[in-house]
Amino acid sequence: MGVVWHVNSTARGGGVAEIIGALCQADDPRYRTRRFVTSEDPALFEVTKRIHHRLHGVPAGELPDSAEHDAWCRYARANVKEFLTSADPKDLVVLHDPQTLPMAPLLAEAGVRLAWRCHIGTAGQNAVTAATWDYLRQFWSEGLVLVFSSPALVPALDHDHDLALALEKHDHPVRIIRPSIDPGTLKNRPLSDDEVSKTLTDAGLGTRPISPALDSSVVTVSESDLGTDPVIVQVSRWDPLKDMAGVLEMFASSDLPSRAHLVLCGPSPQSISDDPEAAGVYAEVVRRRDRLVSAVRRRVHLVCPALDDTRTNALLVNALQRRATVVVQKSLEEGFGLTVTEAMWKARPVVAARVGGIPSQIEHGVTGLLLDDPRDLDGFAAAVGDVVGEVVAHSGQYAQMGRNAHEFVDREMTSHREIREHTDLYRLLEGS
Ligand code: UDP
Repeated sequence: MGVVWHVNSTARGGGVAEIIGALCQADDPRYRTRRFVTSEDPALFEVTKRIHHRLHGVPAGELPDSAEHDAWCRYARANVKEFLTSADPKDLVVLHDPQTLPMAPLLAEAGVRLAWRCHIGTAGQNAVTAATWDYLRQFWSEGLVLVFSSPALVPALDHDHDLALALEKHDHPVRIIRPSIDPGTLKNRPLSDDEVSKTLTDAGLGTRPISPALDSSVVTVSESDLGTDPVIVQVSRWDPLKDMAGVLEMFASSDLPSRAHLVLCGPSPQSISDDPEAAGVYAEVVRRRDRLVSAVRRRVHLVCPALDDTRTNALLVNALQRRATVVVQKSLEEGFGLTVTEAMWKARPVVAARVGGIPSQIEHGVTGLLLDDPRDLDGFAAAVGDVVGEVVAHSGQYAQMGRNAHEFVDREMTSHREIREHTDLYRLLEGS
């Protein structure tokens, strides 16, 4: 039986950790799947977060300078050394995301066959992304298989945006694997209304009365109950590109039904070791919420589950997505957006930005609503308001959209498909 290692830089937090978890549960008679998480390095993660933003086309900081580059290479060497104390060079390896990429040439040198799966990027490639890909390409060892979440995210190396040409120009095999969800997990399994209600009450939300003893693994900022009112939800890391502050602003400036609530849910800021921006983004959202007039502020709730309590976090995300009248994903850029698939699985109407991998999940008007411009607060508010109004009026239009969304995920976006595609990838690596 072959052994395959999935290597990434954080044990929990974000879609990648979620996906690797599902891949490592795969019951494949041919491959045993194992996981290696690279060491924590806060200084390096500042550098790799810059790379993350730049691959999304955002000019947030420079490429690594020579000292940072050397530090990254040392990090890669140390992690390869550590990795090879448990792994055999005959094993197959899938590295995930830029943090681990400099391990590729070192592993290749040791004879390891490997792929690099990049979960981020933008369809709107520009000079910043081009320069960043140019920098990262030095780590693409010979024969490295490159895996992206959507054809739109394959780097157009010469910046010409022509996918066919881009693929042809790659000296590397390129595969597309869309991320998926595992319907059997606590985050996605069906919940009864009572379970939803109890979970939200335990988290300091939900029906009366607010639980006096809040579960310590969830920090909640809330001044009122959700009761039976319409609820708008966005679940995301506290990352500037998820634009939680923009969702808050959209909610506050709109004339959404005065009974509607907004819940923003993101991991407690210390939860994700390789994301140094979370505390700052969360603090900014708290500040903006504090500035709202009390009648609006009372209807804005912030929920931060600690990710090391995996059970509470999964149950809370599940309950919130099921309780939502509408789920929003107003990302300014997005690699894929697993939260969209999760909400679609729960048959929620989703209003999302047409960025990154989101259009490969939502067919506008059929399985959800897409907004062309993620910064268009009025457009978002109008779409969200429309869904809320129709749902409250029981028109059935958006219930059908939710059912379409669920069927689409059932057909194409569950982990069975992703596991199958990985088996094909492992076979490709074995033949290389
Ligand atoms: N998530 C979570 N708790 C939170 C916020 C997010 O478990 O408080 C999960 C969410 O359910 C999803 C993942 O983190 O599974 C986010 O993945 P996505 O692809 O949407 O974005 P990423 O964080 O990878 O950019």
